[in-house]
Amino acid sequence: ESVLISQQSHEEMMRVIRENNERKASGETCKLIVLSLALQPVLSLGNKFALSQREMVGKLCGFFKRLGVDLILDVGLAHCFTLLELESEFIERFRTGQQGGPLFSSECPGWICYAEKSHGDFILPNISRVKSPQQVMGTLVKTYLADKLSVHPSNVYHVTLMPCYDKKLEASRGDFYNEQLACRDVDCVITAVEVEVLLVNENVNLHTEREDTLDWPWDAQESRKQEDMIVVEGGSSGGYAHQVFLQTMRHLFPHLETIPSVEFKPLRNPDMKEFTFTHGDTTLRFCIANGFRNIQNLIQKLKRKKCLYDFIEIMACPAGCLNGGAQIRNEGAGTNSRETVLELETTLNGLKKQEPFQNETVHQLYTKWLGGRDTDKAKALLYTNYHNIPKNNIALNVKW
Ligand code: SF4
Repeated sequence: ESVLISQQSHEEMMRVIRENNERKASGETCKLIVLSLALQPVLSLGNKFALSQREMVGKLCGFFKRLGVDLILDVGLAHCFTLLELESEFIERFRTGQQGGPLFSSECPGWICYAEKSHGDFILPNISRVKSPQQVMGTLVKTYLADKLSVHPSNVYHVTLMPCYDKKLEASRGDFYNEQLACRDVDCVITAVEVEVLLVNENVNLHTEREDTLDWPWDAQESRKQEDMIVVEGGSSGGYAHQVFLQTMRHLFPHLETIPSVEFKPLRNPDMKEFTFTHGDTTLRFCIANGFRNIQNLIQKLKRKKCLYDFIEIMACPAGCLNGGAQIRNEGAGTNSRETVLELETTLNGLKKQEPFQNETVHQLYTKWLGGRDTDKAKALLYTNYHNIPKNNIALNVKW
């Protein structure tokens, strides 16, 4: 895993960018370099440099474009696809009574890796098969965007900015290597701490760095630019459970005048919460478990049939991705990230949100790219598989 992390680093990205710039200068065919930004590391960098989300995005776009990145995209678009598919998967399962247990969210690779190694038979059949936002973004870039721009996918170098190192392992899974196209969906993953190092190495003064905007090459019309990232309603810890609940209510009870507000009740600690809603004969039971201690306790309880849930959102990091292992901690905070996470949560709460189904581009892409909702193409491109890895089989653990 350490070899992989050194391959998938800001150093590797800089090497590819330098070589590409040399090819550009000598008129040779070069790669299209695409960087996709996730919200959490952008907020982390903004917190570090006392910049708002919009200012930080502007500075990052200016800096990376100056280095030689061709397009800078927002992972928020892919987040909308992940949420919409997860909602459909849950509603279908709940309506048809297929529950062999709760549906577990699958967007955290730390959790997936643990489930595959430790509880395969018990958990894997119940984990949502929907790809994480990072991997949906990878598929979007290497299929739809490469095709639209008439570039072979293997000539697109796709980098993502993510909150943790587990995302590097996720990008390297054999499931996300496209044999036909001979390339990965995501070629390199960098993190907030790596960008901080890069800014120092490149002697960047963010106050004088020119700003630029995100690219938006998705619409049928001419490409446009956008200044703000898409912030999905409920996009921090608990966001998946929150959104799945709202959408399930709309589907199961279309005549309800108001959807009840979702208030998760903390159980033994703030990283373990539940929410139950009953209407007529229907009861929906949702749970959020963050951090490995809570996850282990929850699984033991589920195995002993001591608790019953319909949907469980699981994140390996306490407080979720804002607290990812590669986010920047406040100076002097050491490993105590609580204060930093509270600051990031405050910033996130102040951002304007949207619900995934409100995004017009997502609707257009379902039609243009996937041929609609629930098509074979949508299933093939937006879903993935998991593998039961025997505990003592280290070789099978690493699939790249
Ligand atoms: Fe990564 Fe932590 Fe988020 Fe999981 S919860 S995806 S390990 S940052």
